Amino acid sequence: MASFNWNNLFIIIFSCYLTATPIFSDSNTIPNLLDLAKEPQVFDWMVDIRRKIHENPELGYEEFETSKLIRAKLDELGIPYKHPVAVTGVIGYIGTGLPPFVALRADMDALLMQESVEWEHKSKVAGKMHACGHDAHVSMLLGAAKILKYHEKDLQGTVVLVFQPAEEGGAGAKKIVDAGLLENVSAIFGLHIVPDMPLGEVASKSGPMSAGCGLFEATISGRGGHAALPQHSIDPILAASNVIVSLQHIVSREIDPLDSQVVTVGMFQGGGAFNVIPDSVTIGGTFRAFSSESFNQLKHRIEQVITGQAAVQRCNATVSFLEELKPLIPPTVNNGDLHDYFRSVAGSVIGINKVKGVEQMTGSEDFAFYQEALPGYFFLLGMEDVSVERLPGAHSPYYKVNEDALPYGAALHASLAAKYLVKLHHEVPVVEGKYYDEL
Ligand SMILES: [Zn+2]
Ligand SMILES: [Zn+2]
Repeated sequence: MASFNWNNLFIIIFSCYLTATPIFSDSNTIPNLLDLAKEPQVFDWMVDIRRKIHENPELGYEEFETSKLIRAKLDELGIPYKHPVAVTGVIGYIGTGLPPFVALRADMDALLMQESVEWEHKSKVAGKMHACGHDAHVSMLLGAAKILKYHEKDLQGTVVLVFQPAEEGGAGAKKIVDAGLLENVSAIFGLHIVPDMPLGEVASKSGPMSAGCGLFEATISGRGGHAALPQHSIDPILAASNVIVSLQHIVSREIDPLDSQVVTVGMFQGGGAFNVIPDSVTIGGTFRAFSSESFNQLKHRIEQVITGQAAVQRCNATVSFLEELKPLIPPTVNNGDLHDYFRSVAGSVIGINKVKGVEQMTGSEDFAFYQEALPGYFFLLGMEDVSVERLPGAHSPYYKVNEDALPYGAALHASLAAKYLVKLHHEVPVVEGKYYDEL
């Protein structure tokens, strides 16, 4: 006896609903995808994916199970993809396979920390946790893929889905760019959910948004000896102390106060006894700036000040920016034209009163690597519902995702991509028969 399948009925109704009006052919007739993203068929699917990824957090370049899950979901949707890209990355394609191309990005990696939230889907891996919301980012992008797949025939080009590894300090975005798969892409959009903004609000700005980020480590070498006979030693602890004080003078005395920059020494290792002057001291820290020019100048001066000030104290210093281990992340700079476009699309999806501005932040985001290669736009998506609870900050062991934010991310992703293809289609005539080599 044939059993009645509610899923099939839903898909039929859902598909009729979606195809009742011309989709994506004209920006005025594009339906509000937020309503669609809130439908159980999409919402519950995203929640399930997010919880699965949350239970099995994986660090940068080790997202093998996450990547496998993404590919299984893309297979389920009938979306072709390339894998592996940048070790665990996956690049999916929806649409005509022809230009124009627009990309959407989600990061996949978790953090090296123990989850302290007791709930049904708590991390099952001791010492690892999704405490930055990247599990939600993946599920939102898959949600967008599901919505866009329903509308694939109406897409006026190709949406490129970028699931990237290692955002948390591993510069996974750089590896994706270096893989060369975004060369024909006209623009890329990315988002980050944040706990300290109301649910369903977005915030962004034109120009510099997040700082460029670099690390430095210096070994300052003197000559060790008895602490009671300093005249026979060259004291690297005093030299390192002077280096640190001088580093703080770069920002306070050399930099335009309106051009925000940061130098922080967060590590000081040297000496192990009360009465011994050590041979050497190692210090380390981070620096931030909002333009490539300021960032490079700051890097140059950090090296100069460390070696110069160490020499004043008769010490030698070697400075490393650890670029092999942790590549320098450039500033996140939002394209001005995309800012206007984003405001218009986000306004149509969630209401213009929920599209806010934001101050630039000294945190960094490796989405910046995409923006160095092509026009890119990054925005924040709020998820806090104070009527339910206040949410702890990112990277807290008590971090929580309000899953009600998932449809907002999915709908914004899908709308930004689909409408951008319409915009490009009107602006740039497609050359007949010009296929995307990589597909
Ligand atoms: Zn993070
Ligand atoms: Zn993050």
